[in-house]
Amino acid sequence: MEPTAAHWLILGIALGALALAIRLAIRLQRRRVEARAYLKGVRYVISDDPDAAIEALSDAARLGSPEAVETYLALGALFRRTGDLARAVRLHRNMLLRAGLEPARRTEIERELAEDYRRGGMVGEAEAAYRALWERGDRAAGAGLRDVLVDAGRLAEAAELQRALGGPGEDPVRAHLLAGLARSGLPDDPGAAREAAQAAVAACPGSADALLALAEAEGARGARDEAAAAISGAVAADPGCALLAWPALDRLGDPARALALVEGWRVAAPGDAALLYLRGRALHRAGRNAEALEALRAAMDADATGEVTLVMRELLRDAGDPRPEELAARHDLMVKALQRRARPLRCARCGAESPRRAWRCLRCGAFESLRPV
Ligand SMILES: [Zn+2]
Repeated sequence: MEPTAAHWLILGIALGALALAIRLAIRLQRRRVEARAYLKGVRYVISDDPDAAIEALSDAARLGSPEAVETYLALGALFRRTGDLARAVRLHRNMLLRAGLEPARRTEIERELAEDYRRGGMVGEAEAAYRALWERGDRAAGAGLRDVLVDAGRLAEAAELQRALGGPGEDPVRAHLLAGLARSGLPDDPGAAREAAQAAVAACPGSADALLALAEAEGARGARDEAAAAISGAVAADPGCALLAWPALDRLGDPARALALVEGWRVAAPGDAALLYLRGRALHRAGRNAEALEALRAAMDADATGEVTLVMRELLRDAGDPRPEELAARHDLMVKALQRRARPLRCARCGAESPRRAWRCLRCGAFESLRPV
């Protein structure tokens, strides 16, 4: 019998179905292999064998499972968090070797790698990696580049970059950067410091950091009225900045006036531990040591968060020898500062601990992120 058109059609359909079945079987097999490699990788992560995990996950990622990329990224973040930067770098570099990565994914991984470099102190590599991404229009990489510049003390460049990142309108981050720039110019160049501090206040008029930097610059050039106004502005804008206000008060160069300022602020909050601390320091500067010790003691009694106690420990460590008549009170204060339970502050963004209040977390570079535990 001659094959008819219908026969050919049936044969065609059968062959097509067979090809499809084979393709499905291969894909299923591939998925199975992928899933196995992936699960193996996850198991190694759980059983704390990171090298084996990287190995297994490399297999899975080569096979192209999207779950593997996710897990890879999570694993890299884990390594970095635990300070295992060499592994984080190796992992992210491995990931980038994979062919056929989506462009968005590739950018994400390159950014991760840049952050590994930054955390690992490989400043040149971090800067180059972030800059390349930033020039391709990746805003998140711009923020990373800014942090690298801040870490390196290149605050003018960082502030300039932040101008592009923050856009028009108030920018608290740029205010912090310019405030830092102002302080870096003190005490040698109060004129340039003042200019930077004024730019900081212009970037964000309510920034306590900017106002304190301005006060420090004004104080350094002997403009006491301007300095006093700026410190008061800072404390009014953010009463929580009191523990950071001592350098500005000190630069006033007038302990009696500093004391009067503190007493003025205390009217609204007489029991505030940070203000009591400032009072103690101002009294000490004024040479009224017995009263100073009394005020510092009261500050520690009022210290609910432990923050003042931490500052006090530092102060006592750096203080000169007491005069004989102050010995007992100083000893008393020392014992109190040591006995008091005080936990370090913690960064709300990255969890890093800091022994004292600061405007910026040194680990992740976030501003105003440190909080009492
Ligand atoms: Zn942090």
